[in-house]
Amino acid sequence: MTTVPEGRFQCPCCDYFVLAQHSRHETCPVCWWEDDGSNLGEVDAISSANHISLRQARTNFAHFGAADQAAVSLVAPASARVGLRRELRARGG
Ligand SMILES: [Zn+2]
Repeated sequence: MTTVPEGRFQCPCCDYFVLAQHSRHETCPVCWWEDDGSNLGEVDAISSANHISLRQARTNFAHFGAADQAAVSLVAPASARVGLRRELRARGG
């Protein structure tokens, strides 16, 4: 079974702890958000790396399981996330 290795840092989009580094343009295997250091306090700002806002990416993840609809086929399957640490953030706005 495919598994996603747990990382030290929490993805700004899907809230899983899967990133080895923070703000280093690492692509999250769970939601495919590119961690460009988007400010969590500015969820409506358009991310230059992702071309959408963090708020939109979170909405997309909730709806399709990926930060962007185009990445749906790229993300790890839900079964690969089993056992991963996830702490849901309070959603601003
Ligand atoms: Zn993610």
